[in-house]
Amino acid sequence: MKKNFSTAVYPGSFDPITLGHIDIIQRISKLFDEVIILVAHAPDKASLFTVEERIKMIQQSLKKIKNIRVDSHQGLTVEYAKKCGAKVLVRGLRAVVDFEYEASMGNINKTIDPEIETILVFASPEYYFISSRMVKDVAKNGGPLEGLVPPEVIGPLKRKWGKK
Ligand code: ADP
Repeated sequence: MKKNFSTAVYPGSFDPITLGHIDIIQRISKLFDEVIILVAHAPDKASLFTVEERIKMIQQSLKKIKNIRVDSHQGLTVEYAKKCGAKVLVRGLRAVVDFEYEASMGNINKTIDPEIETILVFASPEYYFISSRMVKDVAKNGGPLEGLVPPEVIGPLKRKWGKK
């Protein structure tokens, strides 16, 4: 029997979206009919950008990809996936340090809902070193952001730190 997964959810903080995230989204958008980029709304986690700002930057950076949708959610990602009929969660894997966290998260999600699979996608070599945290550090110290984030994110990042 032919089986396929039509919708994938790519959850994350995206505070802000980086070229590493965009690379993953471009690649998975070729594998699924629809990719939902799910911005985590975690009031207990300090973030630089509001959920609305993060969503706007994602939408502006990904205008060319038609089969994506951006949404936000507070609570369990698997509950969100279940609600919208998605059977796949996608996460990106950079260095070994990501592995332990992603493995725990994947197994917890599997325990909550065995019907939903987590798929890990390897970061491309040219982006594996990029993280939102590092990008914020570079921006805070006035460093160059080209090659780390999409052009649509450079202005908002600089403005957060009062740089022109
Ligand atoms: P979270 O706070 O949930 O880890 P992030 O926004 O930092 O959210 O990352 C979302 C997902 O994207 C995670 O699976 C993370 O490992 C992955 N990711 C982050 N940066 C990169 C990158 N440079 N290349 C590939 N995947 C990445």
